[in-house]
Amino acid sequence: MSDLIVAVDGPAGSGKSSVSREAARRLGFAYLDTGAAYRALAWHCLDEGVDLDDAEAIAARVADFDYDIGMSPDRYFVRVGGEDITLDIREPRVSAVVSAVARVPEVRAVLNELFRRLIAQRDEAGVIVEGRDITTVVAPDAEVRILLTAAPEARMARRSAEVSAESAETTARQLAERDAQDSRVVDFMTAAEGVTTLDSTDLDFEQTVQSLIDIVRLRTP
Ligand code: C5P
Repeated sequence: MSDLIVAVDGPAGSGKSSVSREAARRLGFAYLDTGAAYRALAWHCLDEGVDLDDAEAIAARVADFDYDIGMSPDRYFVRVGGEDITLDIREPRVSAVVSAVARVPEVRAVLNELFRRLIAQRDEAGVIVEGRDITTVVAPDAEVRILLTAAPEARMARRSAEVSAESAETTARQLAERDAQDSRVVDFMTAAEGVTTLDSTDLDFEQTVQSLIDIVRLRTP
């Protein structure tokens, strides 16, 4: 089992995933993207034609969810039922419905247990786990707890650059809608007690990765 858990929360477009993954690579740690599990379940529900307004139907799907994720920063993949859906879960049609899946309490309970199991299985020196409720619910006792934020304008600009097929305006609206829906379920905009805020608004990717690594080093022997 890894000795060190680094919990990183933050809103969409804060750079959480790419920053956490690169920091894990440099530190020789494992990396767990928890949002991928919610996305994969949303993809699975779309694939199976599940009514996304029906919380019971969604909860029924999570019970036998055959999910697999790569936790090595250099070998990231997401699979459901053996099918590789690493790219599919980033499609706008999945982003548009993922919040509906994430607000179902049974889904959160099952996935939180899954995340804790995945974390416990790793034997690297540490693991960086990123999401919305890692510092507060999934791993509140993590040795290092960080809230990665950025001003809304910066987050929207970053996300628009990633999703080139979408207009910047559409992307900004979708991001704001998803944040609004997600923040009804978990508060990922304010740091809980003991959580260090890292504001990346004026930092580039390299500076953000370095700042995260600095916080990890500062907080650990
Ligand atoms: O991080 P990412 O944007 O890929 O997360 C996708 C969605 O998964 C979020 O919009 C949110 O609805 C859900 N999520 C969550 N709790 C987490 C991680 C993600 O509810 N720990």
